[in-house]
Amino acid sequence: MEHIDPALIHRFDTPRSGRLCEFCREFDAKFPERHPLDQLVARNRKPNASAHLTEDGYVRHRMLELRRIASRAPLTAA
Ligand SMILES: [Zn+2]
Repeated sequence: MEHIDPALIHRFDTPRSGRLCEFCREFDAKFPERHPLDQLVARNRKPNASAHLTEDGYVRHRMLELRRIASRAPLTAA
C-alpha cells in the first residue's frame, strides 16, 4: 500500500468521498501506480477530468483524453 499523506486525506475529507475513475482505470496502463487520491473522482459526478479530486489526477485524465483524440485524428492532418 502506498503511503497517504494525512494532510491530503484531511483536505479531501476521506477517499470514501470519491470512487475510482472508470475512464482512467480503463485507459491508463499506469493507473495502479498512481497515488490513491489521484485515482479518485467525486462520487456523484461523471468520471471526467474535472471530477478528479486532485490536480495530478485531473492532468493525467486530460492527457489520456488528448492521447485518444490524437490517435483518432486523420493521418492527413498537417
Ligand atoms: Zn480520470
